[in-house]
Amino acid sequence: PANAIQPLRLLLIGCPGSGKGTQSSRLEKNFGVAHLSSGDLLRRNITEQTALGQQAQQYVADGKLVPDDLLISLIDSELLHVGNTNWLLDGFPRTISQAEALDATLNKLMQPLNLVINLQVPEDVILQRIMDRWIHIPSGRVYNLSYNPPRVPGLDDVTGEPLSKRPDDTPEVFKVRLDQHHAMATPLLDHYHDVVVNVKGNTSDEIYPQIESEIVNRLGVLPGSMPEAF
Ligand code: ATP
Ligand code: MG
Repeated sequence: PANAIQPLRLLLIGCPGSGKGTQSSRLEKNFGVAHLSSGDLLRRNITEQTALGQQAQQYVADGKLVPDDLLISLIDSELLHVGNTNWLLDGFPRTISQAEALDATLNKLMQPLNLVINLQVPEDVILQRIMDRWIHIPSGRVYNLSYNPPRVPGLDDVTGEPLSKRPDDTPEVFKVRLDQHHAMATPLLDHYHDVVVNVKGNTSDEIYPQIESEIVNRLGVLPGSMPEAF
């Protein structure tokens, strides 16, 4: 039936520092979606010095796009791994050729994307956020010294392990990443125009409720109500 609830197959798009990681954690908690973040996966591979990590390392350090074929095989295997559940993509696809590869994979799995959320945050608030940002690499958890500090300075709330600065969170590399984002965002939003919604605000707290109501209205899913799998 047309009003049946739909599985969540979500994509978050937004400039660096727009709060994709923060919104993802909330959606993971409230809707039980599996969070697949290309940036988190790459950073874990770099820390562990896997073959992929070694190939990707310099691109990430410079704020440049990692070659499509590396990302496509990484995300394909993650999607197979999460199985037929609710998921949220963060940071992938970032190019039209990645989007086409993803669409082909999702068609085969019969799990097409059904909501693309475009985060719109003014640029003047973003650079400061990036400067204040610390992360826990193994989990991808994000902290901000001004508005979301860890309970113990320098340590992850859940594991107590040390936090790190991202080496690409410098003003110089940030500018490269921002330009990169602007170049790719318009074609990507056009590609998915049927399923795009725009949400706008200065803070993640202002934006999150808008995302929730889009999910409720468009996909018929209430927070806390998702079955484990479809
Ligand atoms: P933020 O995490 O603040 O939203 P971001 O979107 O710039 O910022 P990530 O998504 O964590 O950061 O990506 C970090 C880096 O990893 C990118 O600058 C790029 O080098 C690489 N990367 C991540 N996703 C992709 C992708 N889909 N294609 C190519 N390179 C990618
Ligand atoms: Mg991120």
